[in-house]
Amino acid sequence: MERELAFFEGKIVPIEEAKISIKTNSFHYGTAVFEGIRAYWNEDEEQLYILAGKEHYERLLKNARAMFMELPYTAEDLVEITKELLKQSGVREDIYIRPIVYFKDLKLTPKLVGYTPEIAIYLYPFGAYLDPEKGIRAKVSSWIRNDDNSIPSRYKIAGAYVNSALAKTEALMAGYDEAIMLNANGYVAEGSGENIFVVRNGVVATPGVNEHILEGITRALVIRILREDMGVEVVERPIARSELYIADEIFMTGTAAEVTPIVEVDNRKIGTGKVGEITKQLQEIFFNAVRGKVEKYKHLLTPVY
Ligand code: PMP
Repeated sequence: MERELAFFEGKIVPIEEAKISIKTNSFHYGTAVFEGIRAYWNEDEEQLYILAGKEHYERLLKNARAMFMELPYTAEDLVEITKELLKQSGVREDIYIRPIVYFKDLKLTPKLVGYTPEIAIYLYPFGAYLDPEKGIRAKVSSWIRNDDNSIPSRYKIAGAYVNSALAKTEALMAGYDEAIMLNANGYVAEGSGENIFVVRNGVVATPGVNEHILEGITRALVIRILREDMGVEVVERPIARSELYIADEIFMTGTAAEVTPIVEVDNRKIGTGKVGEITKQLQEIFFNAVRGKVEKYKHLLTPVY
């Protein structure tokens, strides 16, 4: 990145100018709604590709609207703004894009009406978030995923990430890499920032969208690759904790996590304890697709240059 810029209050500005007051309403009540988007650098083409920009901004706008945050932009506008931000920043590497919608009012009272929403976007150079090559060790958390009827996991609300932070911290402090949270019904929900997939006897299972999870964009892409390109059956169904320990393969998906294998859960080896065959094949297609090397998925990419 040649220079650090942000989109802030309607303009692209140097990052030092993108500052909010400690009085900002959403800072106090966690009512901001955010996204995580990746852009991938393709060295051969000298091109930067935004992955699923439109899908991420559509999710953001819908979630923000549900929180009574109406913005004067379409998803297409926000993709254009992001392109411009990446271009002006001179990004020629893999990067993470963080758009966040918040109430900018310098007022107290936790509510969603009568306030003014604002959007900011900044960039974060980012390699692998977990370890997609060796895989990770995960711990089933003692923290229950927040119930969709308490704080919707589906909306990517800042405050919901207190739940993620508690679970991730517990896992890290116990010597693991990531947490797997169960929902209030006792079934597997998701990681602190990832969806989860479990392979048993060649069939891939993942919690359904009403299991108190985020409806991941990577989740949707991975389901498509598994079904259409690999001919693997994928079922959305409740998954019990006890199934994790006898799974052949487990992996997590997310914009940050990409496709990350889980090779151990609660000190039990998953399968052989090495990255499984379905996960490996999926990773190969996924990583080629995001860098613009798979024609079929090029429509998900927005070239920046
Ligand atoms: N679940 C949670 C709690 C997350 O924060 C994320 C990351 N956005 C995901 C799942 C994966 O979603 P996506 O593939 O859309 O990034």
